[in-house]
Amino acid sequence: MSNRRDFLKTTLLATSALALPNVSRSAASLSGSVPGGAGARVVSTWDFGVPANQAAWAVLGKGGKPLDAVEAGAQIPESDLSNHSVGRAGYPDRDGKVTLDASIMDGDGRCGAVAALEHIGHPIKVARKVMEDTPHVLLVGDGALEFALQQGFTRENLLTPESEKAWHEWLKQAKYKPVANSENLDYHRSLPAPGMPGGKNNHDTIGMLAVDANGRLAGACTTSGMAWKLHGRVGDSPIIGAGLYVDNEVGGATSTGVGEEVIRNAGSFLVVELMRQGRSPQEACEEAVRRIVKKHPDGAKEIQVGFLALRRDGECGAYAIQKGFTYAVCDVRKQDLLLASPSVYQTTFT
Ligand code: ASP
Repeated sequence: MSNRRDFLKTTLLATSALALPNVSRSAASLSGSVPGGAGARVVSTWDFGVPANQAAWAVLGKGGKPLDAVEAGAQIPESDLSNHSVGRAGYPDRDGKVTLDASIMDGDGRCGAVAALEHIGHPIKVARKVMEDTPHVLLVGDGALEFALQQGFTRENLLTPESEKAWHEWLKQAKYKPVANSENLDYHRSLPAPGMPGGKNNHDTIGMLAVDANGRLAGACTTSGMAWKLHGRVGDSPIIGAGLYVDNEVGGATSTGVGEEVIRNAGSFLVVELMRQGRSPQEACEEAVRRIVKKHPDGAKEIQVGFLALRRDGECGAYAIQKGFTYAVCDVRKQDLLLASPSVYQTTFT
């Protein structure tokens, strides 16, 4: 994550084979969609979506199931100890506890999720177990942990020395403020975010969507949520319809950013329903973002939310409130494509 911008610069230069989104300063002329029609494809949020997509592609590219592909892909950032917003090494809540949220959904409507799960490094695998081995959709907290241990998962300490150090830094002021994952706000503040040296954001999520050559879909979403959150806080990622929604008849959507905003607007369900009504993935993401922005008298200048959508024909789109949201696209032509999402605010605040 720390190298997001550098990585973006280099990768964008290497992507001329596919149409890049036209990122201009005029919101009206933006287009972030990537045309479909080329068979199987995986898309996911942020720079860490690139290696995650590649792991998913190792399954999907060989004709594997989209559900197996997204489960494999989501585990890459969950295992990455340099990533402090997903899985192991995620930043803790304000009490120093690492609590993880994850969901998985198949295009046929089956789904499973865990929220506020402690001590398990791969919440996405537990979410799949909830889906397949219980009659339920969502297990939380101690119950989710108990279930995971019964299923054979190993109890781990997820708080790494680095994350613990960052938490101690934050404790000096103990000021909770979600700092949006955006270039605008990082620049705007120019001061370190609470506990975040260098003004880095304090939340990110991997949301991943995959479609096979027959238009069958699946999605996964996993995060440690907002750093320094209240103990017990659950974001959008494990809430089916908020952080993730997939329907084989239409397509799928996933989100990142301030989860409360996404939950309030049933964000991913909204994106899929807009696509069902005929909007393109790009238009659907834009409308879902607009609904959030409209509800904020200040134009939502202080928050970030990004949506990513994949239609069953492979076309994808993305849109965010703030500049800086990136997403990765992987298919038979290219497995390391990283794109900049268009956004409502394209200019840097001064
Ligand atoms: N959506 C996540 C949450 O609210 C965080 C993020 O994606 O930045 O927990």
